[in-house]
Amino acid sequence: MKVRKFTFNPFQENTYVLYDKTREAVIVDPGCYDESEQKQLTDFIESNKLKPVRLLNTHAHIDHIFGNAFIAKHYDLKLELHPDDTETLKRAASWSQQYGLEYTESPEAEKELTEGEVIAFGETTLDILHVPGHAPGHTVFIDHKNHLLIGGDVLFRGSIGRTDLPGGDHELLISSIQNKLFTLEEDYKVYSGHGPETSLQYEKSFNPFF
Ligand SMILES: [Zn+2]
Ligand SMILES: [Zn+2]
Repeated sequence: MKVRKFTFNPFQENTYVLYDKTREAVIVDPGCYDESEQKQLTDFIESNKLKPVRLLNTHAHIDHIFGNAFIAKHYDLKLELHPDDTETLKRAASWSQQYGLEYTESPEAEKELTEGEVIAFGETTLDILHVPGHAPGHTVFIDHKNHLLIGGDVLFRGSIGRTDLPGGDHELLISSIQNKLFTLEEDYKVYSGHGPETSLQYEKSFNPFF
């Protein structure tokens, strides 16, 4: 599986396109905010002849879902999200107002991402882990074959997700990371929702929260 990162919107959020040699692709957390960002994403998909087959959100904070409506419509995809983040998704419109940002209402989630289930596309399978604390329904997508994970806002290089937003819980986030991510092998690469990639090994050694 290949991973292509885009950094979008005023929050500098990382959007990921995952694909394999079958050319099927999934779009994770489309944060594309304006037409030029939408075009960056669709140009990449077109020029690589990819076929997006799923639209996934790690969680429903506004910076990760600005492009949900556009992507769902453009590629005729149903949104997939953990049920515990339904409330987060409902609050998105009022959050974007508070930030003074334009927001096209995301479609509601029509498929549930729950721990223990598998995301399959092309020749790829991703395991789903529920890792709450930054948001109640935050999920992480794990590619055990390539030893990497799409981690959203759980773990950053040298930091962790903020927990001062509604539904945040600092102790829960720390224990979620320790029990669910740090039990994986240390060479797993982490693609975060903001900033550069990291690894579990690096965070276990240098992250000041652990
Ligand atoms: Zn977030
Ligand atoms: Zn974020």
